Amino acid sequence: MQKDELAERRWKAFPSDIRKNLEGNVYCSNCGVTKIVNYDVYSSDYDIVLKGQCNKCHDTVVRVID
Ligand SMILES: [Zn+2]
Repeated sequence: MQKDELAERRWKAFPSDIRKNLEGNVYCSNCGVTKIVNYDVYSSDYDIVLKGQCNKCHDTVVRVID
């Protein structure tokens, strides 16, 4: 996957409260539901994909926004 500026713009066009909700509802294989931090925005087909770190264990987590 490549970082995607268009996907990042689409992501930033979401209202901030919706973005906060999505950032805070990410699944980590170690911690369960967690918050994503230090993420970059990618795209996969037409979906926005956030790839970053779990707020708790700092493992890599991915959130697809469809
Ligand atoms: Zn975790």
